[in-house]
Amino acid sequence: MTEIKDLEPKILWKYFDEILKIPRCSKHEEKIAQYVMEVAKKHGLEVTQDKVGNVIARKKASPGYENKPMVTLQCHLDMVCEKNKDVEHDFSKDAIKAYVDGDFVRAKGTTLGADDGIGVAACLAMMESDVEHPPLEFLFTVDEETGMTGAFNLEKEYIKGEVLINLDSEEFGSIYIGCAGGANSDIWLPLSFEEGGKGLKISVKGLRGGHSGVEIHKGRANSIKLLARLLYNIGARIGHIEGGDKFNAIPREAFATVVVEDIEEAKKKIRELEEAFKDEYKRSDPDVKVEIEETNVEKVISKELNEKVIKMLMGLPHGVIAMSQEVEGLVETSTNLAKVEMDDKLHIVMSSRSSIDSALDAIMQTIRSIAELAGSKVEEGSRYPGWKPNRDSKLLKIAEETFKKLYGKEPEIKAIHAGLETGVIGRNVGIDEMISIGPDIEHPHSPDENVRISSVQKFWKYLEALIKDIAEKW
Ligand SMILES: [Zn+2]
Repeated sequence: MTEIKDLEPKILWKYFDEILKIPRCSKHEEKIAQYVMEVAKKHGLEVTQDKVGNVIARKKASPGYENKPMVTLQCHLDMVCEKNKDVEHDFSKDAIKAYVDGDFVRAKGTTLGADDGIGVAACLAMMESDVEHPPLEFLFTVDEETGMTGAFNLEKEYIKGEVLINLDSEEFGSIYIGCAGGANSDIWLPLSFEEGGKGLKISVKGLRGGHSGVEIHKGRANSIKLLARLLYNIGARIGHIEGGDKFNAIPREAFATVVVEDIEEAKKKIRELEEAFKDEYKRSDPDVKVEIEETNVEKVISKELNEKVIKMLMGLPHGVIAMSQEVEGLVETSTNLAKVEMDDKLHIVMSSRSSIDSALDAIMQTIRSIAELAGSKVEEGSRYPGWKPNRDSKLLKIAEETFKKLYGKEPEIKAIHAGLETGVIGRNVGIDEMISIGPDIEHPHSPDENVRISSVQKFWKYLEALIKDIAEKW
């Protein structure tokens, strides 16, 4: 069986193979930061780390190109750590069990971390590459996936680059020139309880989930919304409810313990709805299932609040709200009902995105309105800025020419329905010549994540050619 380190281009895959062994969940990037600094030093680069943990390294220009603008290659060090419930894996110390499967690299039951491990490997490979280049800067940010705190706290003085190439998009052949802004809404409802009784544990499972930005248009089911429909239809009194995990992942599983008036009647209704779910989502989530178990429920949410909880979960939106009228096929506005959990309060997390500021205002006001109607308090998190497309960018012109020269066709110019760090970094350090590129990565942020090997080959060849063209043409 082919080993990852033997894939072509070796200069890139050997670094990816090392990265797989290094724990790097968001907010725990110490070891991977250490590793990239070692590689930079080994290649004689100047390297620093800022106080939030971002690593910055610089490589001198090839002779003759010293006066060209410095190009910053940017990627993020962290990865989303998600695994299937039945998989034993400790992300704080275990290596990702990646394997080659035809033209793909996948991981056994966990996220692979090709997002953005391939970007990191490409930066390290570029430190080593002898392709002719302008002065290069490498920016490795921390915590892209859970708040972009690395990008938000990046100080201008650390960055000398005038042109930025972000290596964190997921479709080879596309050049990204814009992204959505977004923000989270945290909804809180204090609860009171009454005595429970005999009841059911209901589990909604088997959904595909995925990234709440780039995969929201796929119409996949949200486990919390399905669970809410079950509870609504069986007249449930909730003992406990939880579902979802990260704000940027579409919930794959949700659970509730409930008391109902007639257990057999409730079971029958649940089975009917399960059949309806299987039919509604037969393409997007063919493995959707509902498990029921009889159980004792110690206490349930008091009657009036219980009704508010269920109706709020029914009323809160999820999915695509509007498609862009400017860029065909681009989701303009969406929201993800990302998480529900409870102790003595109910807590719901909604994550909204839009490429239009006023449309983001509108969806967040919709969420606030529904939550407040149900007597909840809403806290809105800080916004990350969008990145406004510029078709006249000099970098984009060169990037398009390089692509055409290599592959004999035009690249697709796109904007993404997710927050790229590019938006934040561009604003913080004042760079406006930016593009984002990457290999083909499917199902990022879920245990189905994979990267297409042949696209990594093309991506690397393109990146080297682009760096050379910038040196020669700028
Ligand atoms: Zn990423």
